[in-house]
Amino acid sequence: MLTCLNPTMKHKIVCPKGSSKAHIRRFREQERERRKFSCEICSGPGFELHECIVTRRDAQGLPRVKRAGIFCNCNMILLCKSCHEKQHGLKDARAFWWEKMCEKYGYEEMLDWYASFEWKVPDRRFMKDG
Ligand SMILES: [Zn+2]
Repeated sequence: MLTCLNPTMKHKIVCPKGSSKAHIRRFREQERERRKFSCEICSGPGFELHECIVTRRDAQGLPRVKRAGIFCNCNMILLCKSCHEKQHGLKDARAFWWEKMCEKYGYEEMLDWYASFEWKVPDRRFMKDG
């Protein structure tokens, strides 16, 4: 059982190789399966994992070891093609998912996750306190 690549999360296991491409791929495969290939918005068949708070675009150009923190349960949702496309056009998606993930994993744990990035992540204005 693999879990998120973020060492601060309670729901993690530590990847022995940190953030290899193969590990990230296996983790993503496992997450699709664990979410039963079901879209977390409309419950239709879903196969597309989306990083909803800190995105791949935010991490563009960084070495893989630094990007690994985005591949974390608290940052990932499984979507169908249609819901996925809508997410990419959404204006306040970060704020929306931050709140959802805080409900799911807890505010403190989400803050720990956010503080663990060693690069400039989007500023915290989208976060609402507690
Ligand atoms: Zn959907």
